[in-house]
Amino acid sequence: MVQIGQNVSHAKAWLERGNVVGIPTETVYGLAGNALDTNAVLTIFRVKNRPTFDPLIIHTDTPAKLSQFVTDFPPAARQLADAFWPGPLTLLLPKQASIPDLVTAGLPTVAVRIPNHPLTLQLLAELDFPLAAPSANPFGYISPTTARHVADQLGNQIPYILDGGPARIGLESTIVGFEGDMPCVFRLGGLTQAQIEAVVGPVTVQTHSTDNPAAPGMLSSHYAPRKPLILLKPGQSPPLTNPNRTGMLAFREPVGGVPDAQQRILSATGDLDEAAKNLFAYLRWLDTLDLDLIYAETLPNTGLGAAINDRLRRASVQK
Ligand code: AMP
Ligand code: MG
Repeated sequence: MVQIGQNVSHAKAWLERGNVVGIPTETVYGLAGNALDTNAVLTIFRVKNRPTFDPLIIHTDTPAKLSQFVTDFPPAARQLADAFWPGPLTLLLPKQASIPDLVTAGLPTVAVRIPNHPLTLQLLAELDFPLAAPSANPFGYISPTTARHVADQLGNQIPYILDGGPARIGLESTIVGFEGDMPCVFRLGGLTQAQIEAVVGPVTVQTHSTDNPAAPGMLSSHYAPRKPLILLKPGQSPPLTNPNRTGMLAFREPVGGVPDAQQRILSATGDLDEAAKNLFAYLRWLDTLDLDLIYAETLPNTGLGAAINDRLRRASVQK
């Protein structure tokens, strides 16, 4: 059975032996393995049941280490790295041959990030290899924001979870790639488009759904609870044919007609950072109830609201 603790040396020892472990980050919990060891990377794909065409992000603790794994670091990428690392920013950069093709799904670029969590930064500083780490959930399910979420789903397949408390941001990283020196956002996450643009000027955003993540992009169906989730249009009330079998993920206040015990409020004060932090835990909680379906309100598209709405769209049955 999985051990949960705060012992960096334990996590390090498992990783050095080729095992995969759960690690905390400020975005969501990761399922980490030695990125330079093809067997460890294969274990990540197997434990998550993730298709190998969906590439992984590699993590380390300093830009100097990361530059060993990429062949180019364009000026705009450097500016973003200087502004946001450690933090919820993933950069797509041309890869060195040392990064296995399995990590990048055969793509010429590798996704790299320096996460901002003290335990994981300490772990990365002590390792002499980078960590490949996708979110620590079965492929397609809701991402984990606590060690308990990881244990509930992957506990019988991994030896150790480093417990760093609840994820501070609660949404995955924002992914930025480059065409020449022109930045393009491929996934909105813990950094907003406005934050990126404040550093590098106007960027294109290509986060539309695709069934070919290698394009690159994201799978259109993702982050999904097992129960059907229906995303309400802004201002739309849920059609309550059977309120006792209906769950509700509301933004600021409970929705009349649905029993309180079947509702979660993302942020009573309308704080989008708080809503992001609560999103995945509340979706999981609603998914444990004996219900037929879950409605979710669309949030304002400002700040982290855009990334939250993106996750809700991908989690929903009607796109
Ligand atoms: P995660 O599940 O949070 O680790 O997300 C990894 C995502 O990053 C993938 O699903 C891709 O959408 C994206 N990604 C990773 N590596 C690349 C790459 N080399 N090129 C394009 N997208 C990538
Ligand atoms: Mg994921």
